[in-house]
Amino acid sequence: MGIYESLGLRKVINASGKMTALGASAVTDKIAEAVKNATQDYVEIDQLIEYAGTVIAEHTGAEDGCPTSSAAAGIAISTAAVIAGKKLSLIEKMPNSDGLKNEIIIQKGHQVHFGGSIDQMIRLGGGKVIEVGNANKVEVDHIQEAISDKTAAIFYVKSHHAVQKGMVSVEKMIEIAQKHAIPFIIDAAAEEDFKKYIKMGADIAVYSGGKALEGPTSGFICGKKELMEACRKQYKGVGRAMKVGKENITGLITALNEYPFKEDHVEVQIERMTSLCNSLNEIEGLSCSIKQDEAGRAIYRAQIEVNPAKAGIDAESLLHKLESGNPAIYLRHHYVNIGILSVDPRPLLEGQETIIANEIKRILAEVK
Ligand SMILES: *Cc1c(COP(=O)(O)O)cnc(C)c1O
Repeated sequence: MGIYESLGLRKVINASGKMTALGASAVTDKIAEAVKNATQDYVEIDQLIEYAGTVIAEHTGAEDGCPTSSAAAGIAISTAAVIAGKKLSLIEKMPNSDGLKNEIIIQKGHQVHFGGSIDQMIRLGGGKVIEVGNANKVEVDHIQEAISDKTAAIFYVKSHHAVQKGMVSVEKMIEIAQKHAIPFIIDAAAEEDFKKYIKMGADIAVYSGGKALEGPTSGFICGKKELMEACRKQYKGVGRAMKVGKENITGLITALNEYPFKEDHVEVQIERMTSLCNSLNEIEGLSCSIKQDEAGRAIYRAQIEVNPAKAGIDAESLLHKLESGNPAIYLRHHYVNIGILSVDPRPLLEGQETIIANEIKRILAEVK
């Protein structure tokens, strides 16, 4: 029995991806072991945080780094850092930034909700959000004209949640920031390439520790030395309410060190999803095939097309029946509006593809 079942909670089969609502990631034995050992011992936290900074620097190509409890905390902490710097009296005043250089410029199409709103995370760090342009069209002039002597940073959100068309590019935003000597912060929470934006010239990049990295609940900030020292110092201020514990910092370090050696296991993914598809293709009204990730990542999902007339149920109802069952099965549903559900093989534990196939079969037999 799983730990959560033993607490009387419903068992979950996660076939949707790295979802905070489902517990984000399941770590490897090596990471779990590191977390366990860290929990049962003591350390000088300031030293651990600084050491984590060197590991973050090594894996991102940045000058320095700062571990956080999540990417969301990373946004708040980096905002506080660009406003209060390393000055204790200001750090302790945050998020009240009255009279300080506190404006954070963001494109309107980047004002998104990832489970919490970017806007609120910036405000938590004392930032005054200056939203520029329109939801689907932002021009360089919108950004240039918003810059003033109150500007603390330019903020970019790299995410599938953000509007993809009509926005000013990362390259251009960095160029504008550099021209005006304003720090450029990028939220790259779910990105897989930890080096890309630092290489492009970002002053600060924020990542999640529980998404691409598949570490414990955590996050990290990387970037310029001065700014990272300022980020770490925010743990004497607003950062204290976002404390990242010794065990999660240690798990984060272990995950970062494992990351370069992580394999995609493409053959295993395809084999498991083929077996699922073979099983589902026996059912009338379902058509299952293997599809590579839209963004070209090494993810091979099973894509299930539901023909409601033949299956006796539409994709949306099937999705809800799976989610409300026991175990609760969560599929990826980006295309449910056109009758498509997908199974992400990465978060699936051993043998769960068979449970999913059997459950779908059972539901369809029931509605027939
Ligand atoms: C997931 C996400 C976050 C938050 O990451 P956490 O580590 O869960 O706090 C922030 N920004 C974007 C764009 C995200 O996708």
